[in-house]
Amino acid sequence: MRAEDCPDEIRQVLLTTEEIQERIGELARDIERDYAGKLPLLVGVLKGAVMVVSDLARELRMPLEMDWMAVSSYGSGTESTGVVRILKDLDTDLTGRDVLIVEDIIDSGLTLTWLTQNLASRGAASVEVCTLLRKPERLKTDLPVRYIGFDVPNEFVVGYGLDYNERYRNLRDVVVLHPAVFGADDIDASGPVEPARKVI
Ligand code: 5GP
Ligand code: MG
Ligand code: MG
Repeated sequence: MRAEDCPDEIRQVLLTTEEIQERIGELARDIERDYAGKLPLLVGVLKGAVMVVSDLARELRMPLEMDWMAVSSYGSGTESTGVVRILKDLDTDLTGRDVLIVEDIIDSGLTLTWLTQNLASRGAASVEVCTLLRKPERLKTDLPVRYIGFDVPNEFVVGYGLDYNERYRNLRDVVVLHPAVFGADDIDASGPVEPARKVI
């Protein structure tokens, strides 16, 4: 699905499918250079990172392996607590492996900080992080993130794997939804939101 297939639900398109694909190609070139001669294990964090892993893996011109984890970072509220529960663990033994965690978005960064430490403690040779999106205003940790696609404003974004109530994951673009979709007609959504910016 593309943004033009649900125009009434969208307040603003932040990143088109073309912009996303181009940036994933650039990140893949960086990763190929850094992992030359190695066999990286891409660890996708379900469910949001499915599209990033799938496109990044096919863009990478090198052998690699993929595995998946599902974690739950939120308690009852919508704010990340840093307390993480593993819902689905890896099948792969990480001893000596070069692990590249692939994420859709880093918000507070608390989930990823926990995950990085957890995977490193399993004897991995290296653990790095690749995320398509980052919300710099919200970061609560100084976790080093090696590969970053774009910085986005502090808005709730959906598409390209990211959901609202499990919907919009199949949207090719990354967008900010119209407040009416959340039943929040009273929110002023007349002005434009800040654009997404490529992280160099
Ligand atoms: P963190 O621990 O970094 O605060 O939580 C990151 C997770 O929160 C992401 O993997 C994603 O599941 C969710 N998240 C954070 N911001 C957004 C957003 O703008 N849209 C959506 N759909 N999910 C988000
Ligand atoms: Mg995620
Ligand atoms: Mg979600």
